Amino acid sequence: MKLRLLPSTIDGSGLVSKLQHFACFVIDGCVAFDAGSLASSVNEDERDNIRDVVLTHAHLDHIAGLPLFIDDLFQTLTEPVRVHAEGSVIDALEEHIFNWSVYPRFSELTNRFGRVIEYREFNQGEQFDVRHLKVRAAAVNHKVPTSGFIISDASATIAITGDTAEMDDFWNEVNSVEKLAGLFIECALPNELLELASVSHHLTPEKLARELTKFERNDAPIYVINIKPAYREAVVSQIDSLGIGRIEILEAGRMYKF
Ligand SMILES: [Zn+2]
Repeated sequence: MKLRLLPSTIDGSGLVSKLQHFACFVIDGCVAFDAGSLASSVNEDERDNIRDVVLTHAHLDHIAGLPLFIDDLFQTLTEPVRVHAEGSVIDALEEHIFNWSVYPRFSELTNRFGRVIEYREFNQGEQFDVRHLKVRAAAVNHKVPTSGFIISDASATIAITGDTAEMDDFWNEVNSVEKLAGLFIECALPNELLELASVSHHLTPEKLARELTKFERNDAPIYVINIKPAYREAVVSQIDSLGIGRIEILEAGRMYKF
């Protein structure tokens, strides 16, 4: 299994920055988990091959690239882009994004080959197939209904949280995986913004350390994702101070193999 966090931010000299404004993780070049920078940062092969997008939740930094991705491909799609999401996320997309005011309601439009978007609803706790992947959705704890995912291909299993605060269901699912190749967990805010982290349902490094005591797979590497760009330096330094050897910050643009 190969995973790449799409870059989402460009620095002043036009180079890819380490900052992560958007979330979009592409697996094996053909399935996107979240769609923040999907349109702006895929390479041509990924644009040609991605027809499945799996969403954790409907916050803007996780879906911003979806309307533009479908728009770019509108004339040439020979099959719809399949959006796999929990029911309330689909409702939010239809009500707040694809509502003709913010963007066209693609579910009402067709090109000469047929539909351009198809919703595939899942429930938390369910397992479903996405291309060659088996995906299990597990509830995490964010301000809106949000799913984490346990993702397997024939050779490896990884787990990704999406945005979350303290959680239980997700850990129960993750701890039941026999061999986990990697855990991808959010840590959005620094310790000094604990109050904001509480009201917005995010983790800080101190909260992350407490969460990891629930993680029973002691041999799995841990990658931190979804750090708010304004606080990246502080969060990275506070994570370093935790002294957890197998933890690292996921780098945008790099291909990780499992
Ligand atoms: Zn969020």
